[in-house]
Amino acid sequence: MKSSAIKEPIKKLRNKYTGCMLGAAIGDALGKQNEGLKRKDILSKGYVKDYGLAPAGCPGENLRSGQFTDDTEQMILLAQSLIECSGFDAADFAARIARWGADALADPVRKKLVGPSSSAAVSRLNSGVSWQESGSIIPSCGSAMRAAPMGLFYSNLDEIEEKAALSSIPTHNSSAAIAGAVAVGLGVRCALDGMECPKIIKECFERSSKYDEGLGKKILYSFDMSDEEPDRAFEKLGTSYLVYETVPSAFYCFSRYFDEPEKAMIEAVNAGGDTDSIACITGALCGARHGMDVFPERWIKGLEKRERIEKIAELIFKRIEESLEE
Ligand SMILES: [Mg+2]
Repeated sequence: MKSSAIKEPIKKLRNKYTGCMLGAAIGDALGKQNEGLKRKDILSKGYVKDYGLAPAGCPGENLRSGQFTDDTEQMILLAQSLIECSGFDAADFAARIARWGADALADPVRKKLVGPSSSAAVSRLNSGVSWQESGSIIPSCGSAMRAAPMGLFYSNLDEIEEKAALSSIPTHNSSAAIAGAVAVGLGVRCALDGMECPKIIKECFERSSKYDEGLGKKILYSFDMSDEEPDRAFEKLGTSYLVYETVPSAFYCFSRYFDEPEKAMIEAVNAGGDTDSIACITGALCGARHGMDVFPERWIKGLEKRERIEKIAELIFKRIEESLEE
């Protein structure tokens, strides 16, 4: 089955590839300023709309303004593995995660960023446990937050579902975390292909429900909530690091502001709780739908390692472009 992406003008499609990966990194770098804070405390200071430093006590307190966190670092690892292996290779990806994790956990600044599942999995991988056995059963969002490149690299929805599910296992082996990775990978592809919001939600609901019905239903619920004000929606959906909360909250922001990506991102950044991951996922979905040109220039220019991320997105796009020319 060929992707409907072939109907898109090439230039616009390239812009969406870059937009997806930059959007994820921008959301992460903005959202880190509120990571772990309660929504009411965020709102009492005022919405974060620009880069800045995370306050003392946040996991990213020692990061620079415009610097992203572990969410984007892991997304880049996945993208590089896909490019260098010409497809998803679980053993290669797990080895990259193990090396990255050992580095991050030895770094006093970055070690606070690594979540409980990734940290436990990294220790197991580095002590010789196989990738099939190393994943944590905590249903956290670490495999969903990094899954966007699956939707960029593969265009067939069945293939995205299968590979995204597999990509969760080395670190996140709970059914909910697997379902979350499936939803994000698919959401990115459906957004790239220009599907309307109800169709994107239906696709993500049906396919993630195969792995975890609870997560699938909550994605549907997030869409039902898209007419509700953010205070109430985030209270109902939750904003913790659990995949049952981060992924539906990101889909809520994406659905509520389907044609207003800047608003979607700002809402995610200020949701409360796991704001870097909620905004990272929201940013990937928004960038895949709209392309990078919709993001304010200050967000693009102020992002650390912007050129590197653009280059990686271009490399994935090149493969698709070549397949379109065949
Ligand atoms: Mg993070």
